[in-house]
Amino acid sequence: MRLAFPVAPLALLTLAAIPATAQETPAEKTAAADVIRRMGELERSLALPPLVARLAGARDPRRDAVIARARDLMDRELLAMADDITRHPETGWKEERSVKILADYLTAHGFAIEMGVAGLKTAFVARYTKGTPGGAGGPNLGIIVEYDALRGTSRDFHGDQHSAQGPVGLAAAVAVSEFLTSSKTPGTVTVYGTPAEELASPAAKTVMYKAGVFKGADVLIRSHSSTATQDPGPGFGSCCMNINVVHYTFSGAPAHQLQAWDGRDALMGVIELFNHIDGLRKTLRPETKIQGIITEGGKAPNVVPDRAAAEFWIRYPDPVYLAQVSALVNDAARGAALATGTKVRIELDSSSRNGISVAALNDLAFAYLKKLGATKVDDSPGRPLPFEETGTVATQIPGVGLTAHSSNGGYHTFEMEADALGEVGHHGFMVDAQTMAAVLYHFATDAPYRATVKREFDGLHGLYDEYLTALRSAYPLPTVPEPTGN
Ligand SMILES: [Zn+2]
Repeated sequence: MRLAFPVAPLALLTLAAIPATAQETPAEKTAAADVIRRMGELERSLALPPLVARLAGARDPRRDAVIARARDLMDRELLAMADDITRHPETGWKEERSVKILADYLTAHGFAIEMGVAGLKTAFVARYTKGTPGGAGGPNLGIIVEYDALRGTSRDFHGDQHSAQGPVGLAAAVAVSEFLTSSKTPGTVTVYGTPAEELASPAAKTVMYKAGVFKGADVLIRSHSSTATQDPGPGFGSCCMNINVVHYTFSGAPAHQLQAWDGRDALMGVIELFNHIDGLRKTLRPETKIQGIITEGGKAPNVVPDRAAAEFWIRYPDPVYLAQVSALVNDAARGAALATGTKVRIELDSSSRNGISVAALNDLAFAYLKKLGATKVDDSPGRPLPFEETGTVATQIPGVGLTAHSSNGGYHTFEMEADALGEVGHHGFMVDAQTMAAVLYHFATDAPYRATVKREFDGLHGLYDEYLTALRSAYPLPTVPEPTGN
């Protein structure tokens, strides 16, 4: 689930100084004006262009050896592993074969596997064991890998290329961990296996974060399929808007179809909910996206359904107005229940929120993606794009998502799956693996670079809190009086 919307270049403005922002709506832009100005100051103070040029442009045989090792592992073993996982798609929470392949490989390369972390059967953590204990006070380099396939109507498929994320991450993990040991560089590597990205409930990374799985990670890095090679801008945003996934379960009373007045029709409750939401749409801000499906609608037309349910995905560009929309939809459900004599249970199943997008990491990664031959490079400033979709982890730990061009098809298509097995996919995965190794190498070996990442992340984190505060006053609720006489 990843969609990056490229932004058009801002004409007549100096691009380097003006980050492309995720603030889309007039209310967001107004509320964010001061925050965006200070974000610009923060970014300029980091002087990232010379820093990135110094790291990516320098002659550095040790770095080149780490990159070469990642490339070699991809060439000899890991591209084949990616093909194998692509050809055996497993949907969320059922990725047992894929996880075993990844875990066995990591075990063979000196990692200790903890399977089933956070109570999730196909989640794992792999810790490097051959370095100095605890990394000797050096940074903990975290790599996130996903492996779930999409549910298709004809068959399950790897139309988002999560099949390659594991092999890409493993190449970097092995190359960098071997380097840490052989060079006696303080630091360690941890691979986080995060299942079921395509299934919102529950959001695996949120569950894992809350269980403390990511504790101690100083940086997190993940690769993902991409239809172009892009450089996300600094700031806060999300790939696909802030989302609430909500379940509405209606209960009624059963009766014979011919004596329906003896019962109460739970399906009517669900249908009224859809109608009420359609009635609400015109009073909602236009960027609101609400889509629902009926997950339970009764068993037989000759029995009045005493139970029916719907699942809604409610999206808005920011979390503050989203909360208002969700409250209205919940009231619509209560209204639907009242109108039909049924009862409703409302459950917030999961949510996705903005994450923080760190230019010190994104820009260095982008420099390497280009240097290492990524294709279909889009040099226009990108919107902020966090490294994971829930926002839970990406607001707490700095990280970066790598997006080498790996498909000419759209996301979630059979074309993207076919590309995973072909030249465009293999080339993109190869570039991602080497870039991941290079970025982690710099993070491990360059303390000033680490400090810059931390300063930017901490600064953006503080500004995000201020942005949310500003937004709260940007969406005042109207006062609705009691109806009075005529
Ligand atoms: Zn995805």
